[in-house]
Amino acid sequence: MSCRLTVVGLGPGRLDWCTPEVSAILEDATDLVGYAPYLARVPQTCAARRHASDNRVEAERAEHALNLAADGGDVVVVSSGDPGVFAMASAVLERLDQDPSRWCDVQISVCPGITAAQALASRVGAPLGHDFCVISLSDVLKPWSIIERRLDAAASADFVIALYNPRSRQRPHQFTDAIGIVSRHREPATPVIVGRHVGRDEESVTITDLGRLDHATIDMSTIVIIGSSTTRVLDRPAGCRVYTPRTYADPRPAAG
Ligand code: SAH
Repeated sequence: MSCRLTVVGLGPGRLDWCTPEVSAILEDATDLVGYAPYLARVPQTCAARRHASDNRVEAERAEHALNLAADGGDVVVVSSGDPGVFAMASAVLERLDQDPSRWCDVQISVCPGITAAQALASRVGAPLGHDFCVISLSDVLKPWSIIERRLDAAASADFVIALYNPRSRQRPHQFTDAIGIVSRHREPATPVIVGRHVGRDEESVTITDLGRLDHATIDMSTIVIIGSSTTRVLDRPAGCRVYTPRTYADPRPAAG
């Protein structure tokens, strides 16, 4: 009897961006639990039973996984990216917290993965090289007023901001509102990096700026990184060219 529940991150897409630790845990599992498209990314060499569920049923999925583990399974809950970033690790703990006397025998652990913000940052250089924050624009689980307050605070404190769940079809205007809030504190020339399906076959990465950002290109498969006042774009043909310096000295040679 294992009675184990491990919450793992598969990384943003490519299998070689999934850690060897997670790959080994998947191979040894008796049951895999997760959102169907994430389960589909687990190689078929993993013989475990697969329990696919819809995206919006996190609490039920967590409870199902805890019950499978309590029955003696070696259960793995899969998340995309990192399981602790807007994903299943907190959903499992939140469910446990509601029922403190249940599932006492289940041993729970979390294995990290590369989160979408890191993956996109690496594609263009080092935009997260100095203080940054991550904000989900989804108001499914939190009120929009809190999102507005956090955007305003983060932008006024000059953090680089990575926006997760940026623009859904049900609430496209909220992305426009969010950019409006950030723009109160940032110049139109502030660098913005847009990554869609980062690390997957359909990947696209664009470097633009706050004033020219094309909102129509943003959807739920996209992550958006908005630079701080010090984030710079180097004038190079391609590849790594965006960074946020770790120092506050001007890196450009003095004029004259
Ligand atoms: N746990 C995940 C985040 C889940 S929230 C992680 O750590 O990456 C879902 C949001 O993550 C998406 O709406 C999108 O904004 C972002 N995201 C996840 N994978 C992505 C990818 N490969 N490319 C671009 N954005 C991604």
